[in-house]
Formats: sequence, structure tokens, C-alpha cells
Amino acid sequence: MADARAKAEETGRFIVERQYVDDRRIHEPKKLDAGGIDISGRWGVLIEPRTITTFDHTLMRQVQRESGGEFIHRCFQCGNCTAACPTAEEHPMFNPRYFIHVVRMGYSAELENVRKYVYLCASCGRCTEACPREVDPSGVMAAIGTVVRKLS
Ligand code: SF4
Ligand code: SF4
Repeated sequence: MADARAKAEETGRFIVERQYVDDRRIHEPKKLDAGGIDISGRWGVLIEPRTITTFDHTLMRQVQRESGGEFIHRCFQCGNCTAACPTAEEHPMFNPRYFIHVVRMGYSAELENVRKYVYLCASCGRCTEACPREVDPSGVMAAIGTVVRKLS
């Protein structure tokens, strides 16, 4: 899985909000010709659409019940936390704003996909200082980690 993620960081690396896209849905043909026009490389990247039918609408409540997670509902996805996060700079798959999004939407399958990255959080608190909504994303990350452990 780690290899697949590392490979994916190369494949489709130009895609904005790369975390939203499952690796298996990205197709990057080495050579693509459209009526005599070479559209190889980034211009040829195709993303298969997806349909999510399984949501766990209790996820956010579970996080709110854990210490630090109480204010996750305030998040308006500005991304300041991720921009301030030193771990996110080192690890492209670690993104506190995205974790919050996944939990709030109840994307349980996606939380399963990214759960191992939750523990990369260094609890430095820079995200909490940067958050304009007093979400305490540092606390939220700890709360998500607790929920993920309980789901094991
Ligand atoms: S507390 Fe965690 S999520 Fe927040 S800035 Fe530090 S490493 Fe990033
Ligand atoms: S900085 Fe606060 S409001 Fe903005 S995305 Fe992060 S947690 Fe949400």
C-alpha cells in the first residue's frame, strides 16, 4: 500500500487536491495522440468518476465525543491548518484539512484508506494557532486518531 501511494504521488501529481482521487482511478497514458495532436503527459491524465454510497454519519459525532474533537463542526475548509503544518510539508498524504473533511462527510472507506497518516501528527499546535474558526485542528487530529484506533 505504501508503495502504491508513493507511486501515486508521481502518477497524476499535477492534479489539484490529489488526496481526493483514488490511485486506481488515475490513468496516465505514456503516449496519447488525439487527431495528430500529442496530448501525452499531464494533458492525457484521465480520472474515472466515482460514486460513494456508503457513509457513516456518526463519524463526526464520534470525533466530537473525544477530547480535542469538540469543535470539528466549525471547520469551513479554508486550509490554513494544512498550510501551517510542518508535517504536511514533508508528507503530501498528510493533510489536516482533508482529515476533517473526510470525517465531516462520513467517508468511512476513505478514512480507512488514509488512517495510517493520522499518526504522523506531531501535535505541534501550529494548525491550531492558524485556524480562524477555533476548531483546534491539533486536538481534532488527536481525536480522529482515537476514533480510528477504536474502529480497529
Ligand atoms: S499539530 Fe499536527 S496537524 Fe497540526 S500543524 Fe502540528 S503536525 Fe500538523
Ligand atoms: S484552519 Fe480551521 S477552519 Fe480552516 S480548514 Fe483548518 S480546521 Fe478548518
